[in-house]
Amino acid sequence: MTVELQRTSALSSKTPSVQDLLRTLVGFDTTSAKSNLALIAFVEDHLKDHGVASTRVPSPDGTKADLFATIGATGAGGIGLSGHSDCVPVEGQRWSSDPFTLTERDGKLYGRGACDMKGFLACVLASVPRFKAHKLKEPIHIIVSYDEEVGCTGVRPLIARLGADLPRPRAVIVGEPTSMKVIDAHKRIDSYRTRVTGREAHSSMPEIGVNAIAAAAALVGELERLGADIAARQNDPRFEPPYSTVCVGTIKGGTAPNIVPKHCEFQWQVRSLPSAAPAEVPRDLSAFAETALLPRMLQVTQEAAIDTETQGSVPAFVARPRSEAVALALELTGAKHTHAVSYTTEAGLFEQAGCPSVICGPGDIAQAHAADEYVSVAQLDACMAFLAGLADTLSA
Ligand SMILES: [Zn+2]
Repeated sequence: MTVELQRTSALSSKTPSVQDLLRTLVGFDTTSAKSNLALIAFVEDHLKDHGVASTRVPSPDGTKADLFATIGATGAGGIGLSGHSDCVPVEGQRWSSDPFTLTERDGKLYGRGACDMKGFLACVLASVPRFKAHKLKEPIHIIVSYDEEVGCTGVRPLIARLGADLPRPRAVIVGEPTSMKVIDAHKRIDSYRTRVTGREAHSSMPEIGVNAIAAAAALVGELERLGADIAARQNDPRFEPPYSTVCVGTIKGGTAPNIVPKHCEFQWQVRSLPSAAPAEVPRDLSAFAETALLPRMLQVTQEAAIDTETQGSVPAFVARPRSEAVALALELTGAKHTHAVSYTTEAGLFEQAGCPSVICGPGDIAQAHAADEYVSVAQLDACMAFLAGLADTLSA
């Protein structure tokens, strides 16, 4: 702790250390369901203290905001440093210390979001004096988003303004936890909700009812079968696991044990390889419903139905060939190889919008979302060195 403070004070007496900044960021409970405006105001003030103006991109209901700020030369190009401000809930998790109070144990800094991904944001904010001190020939853009954890929705209105009233970076580094490895591809997510409508009846006469839970169970079984079939067919060794995956995440239905249930619904996701056809699983499920379930259900009641609706999608990310973002991250980390991951990020959205992107940030994804989430001091140091290298590169 003392060592860290001394190290930073050599850079600027005005700037809090990366750990102080991380402590403040973790202290804001920015669970996706809550407002992030207090955190955004803090980041704005921090930037303003260093003479950096920023632009808020508010959410449609005004309870949240993205932030965009530019350091250095104005005009086209520049490198975007992008991180989300929201974090996943702590409910139901057993933490050894208060999740919103950054706590150090054995070189690890524990707190909700410490790894995913306030650690990266803290490094970026701590590097602002360095960015300012360098004569940057090309700007650095700081991008802070909201609602990443609930489908990467919050960054979309900001991305829509890139190249319009906000400058479009020539490359974007998304600082999700990769243990500072360079990631140039990730899977896609499609989320669905399937609703089954049957017919209520006394449980002593199930034949005059249509059991929505039983039909839902058959559909869930079919999804498991489809998932196993995909696992046997697909094999892209860059990904772990090397195939698209199917997961049913919630299910609810029925009212009492002695009533044939009329309603049941479940939510499920497909995480597809970038090369896979994402519409395949919902199409196959609907074919199963129409041939194996619905004819029998409709014989009992015309009200019987099985409806699947899309709840959201996050595009896959595949860096373009000879991506300048990937080249930059490889140069700054000294890594020889890139990797692919199975979780999703905002990188696919930036890439789609014409900004070459790469994912590289401090902390291990294994710690993200878990109880006792942490980022190690060593990882923060590595990210600070990475950002110092970026400042050197852009001012050379
Ligand atoms: Zn994240």
